[in-house]
Amino acid sequence: MTAKIRLYVQQPLGEGQPVSLPQAQAHYLFGVMRLRAGDTVALFNGTDGEWQAEVTEVGKKGGTLVCRLQSAPLQMPPDLWLLFAPIKKARTDFIVEKATEMGARRIMPVGTDHTNSERIRQDRLQAHAVEAAEQCGGTYVPEVTDLQRLDRLLSDWPEERRLMFCDEAKVGETLGLPTETKPGPWAVLIGPEGGFSRAERERLHGLAFTHPISLGPRILRADTAAVAALTLWQEHLGDWT
Ligand code: SAM
Repeated sequence: MTAKIRLYVQQPLGEGQPVSLPQAQAHYLFGVMRLRAGDTVALFNGTDGEWQAEVTEVGKKGGTLVCRLQSAPLQMPPDLWLLFAPIKKARTDFIVEKATEMGARRIMPVGTDHTNSERIRQDRLQAHAVEAAEQCGGTYVPEVTDLQRLDRLLSDWPEERRLMFCDEAKVGETLGLPTETKPGPWAVLIGPEGGFSRAERERLHGLAFTHPISLGPRILRADTAAVAALTLWQEHLGDWT
């Protein structure tokens, strides 16, 4: 039977492979979801695909599952990073959750001249990405990096990676999506509530790897803009077609 519950684990998965559960996951499976020996759970670890695993040992502080059958291979999302300036906590959580569902491979909070929040809890955001992957059927969990300054990131930028720069000054212009359709490494950049500073915009426009785009005739909130930009990129250059 295919399991209804999906769990991310940090252990290798393969036929006959036992997986021991930490206390929190044991509590969730056996205390909250009331699973018993013989029940099935879907496991994934971000590298070995999804496996149907049978509960073989039930405990209050732990437990064991054994992988029986691979139910999905690893499906890597396209090589797309999302760079965004963190905003209020709940909206930042939303961006991480949606970027995971939308198939970003790496999620990178960046500090800009007008960034609202200079601190993030990377571990909390990473946990949101795990939860989103569990919910959406993904077999890969994007890495959420620590907050980095955008200017430093641009100085060390890998030249072959194109940057889709969502520029609010282009509001109302035609979208201007890239004309090429071949896959390659890309990133999407979304600014903070206050937008990019003039210096940042000038620098971004001058870089060979940036591709400035408009997101239509209205100014979108940063969280909406992140979802809209990822949708456009996925439809045009990603794994949606
Ligand atoms: N305060 C800024 C202003 O009024 O010009 C708006 C910033 S907007 C809330 C946050 C980010 O979303 C922007 O920095 C940009 O990256 C993106 N964004 C929102 N609407 C956009 C649009 N119509 N075109 C391009 N980017 C947009």
